[in-house]
Amino acid sequence: MDSKTCLQCGKILKPNRRGVFCGRRCVWRAWHQRSIARGYEAQNLPLAMPPPNSEPILPAMGPERLRAANQLALIARAPADARGYRVGIQPGHQQLMRWFPPARFRAPAMFLLDPFEGPAVPTQGTYAVVYLDGHCLPLGGPRFTLAVEQIDRRLVLTDGDRTFKPRPRGEGGPDPWCVSPRYQRGVVIESVPRSKACRMSSHLSRWSAGPIPCGTT
Ligand SMILES: [Zn+2]
Repeated sequence: MDSKTCLQCGKILKPNRRGVFCGRRCVWRAWHQRSIARGYEAQNLPLAMPPPNSEPILPAMGPERLRAANQLALIARAPADARGYRVGIQPGHQQLMRWFPPARFRAPAMFLLDPFEGPAVPTQGTYAVVYLDGHCLPLGGPRFTLAVEQIDRRLVLTDGDRTFKPRPRGEGGPDPWCVSPRYQRGVVIESVPRSKACRMSSHLSRWSAGPIPCGTT
């Protein structure tokens, strides 16, 4: 008789076990490894160049040049039904990609192509690009990379989502183009420990009205 083994750890699976892993831990580990490998691939995609005939309209130098070149490249390479895009970066070799804009800060979670919105990211670096359609569904996977120099200091790397597929947070909503109301000040803070709440509130205050007094922390 032949018994099946867990694809992740090699343990012999119980005869009635469905699937290819012995348990949730191995399912998660396999997902984590796959995600890191995919992030590595995405991070190594070729850098986007602006269209060859765009040189005359690009600023000669400086950060404006890169910004304009990125805009041209993002628009030129967008599939016909693309409405926006997301950018992701792998902070380290063994870490998961982080995707922006974060789904909890805006819905739909994408930068628009028209009117064009430049990427808002927490750190300079090389970002993979995924396009999304009007329903915020990804049009395939990461296609190329982009060097981004301009940063938004209100963001930190861990704000980014671990997947480029934005998770919808409820249907509809009052204004789909603004920050999710769930994350406005004072709503999510009550249920977390004080130290974390303070960290979050100082973080959230960057997105809403003024800061919340946090005492000693
Ligand atoms: Zn296992």
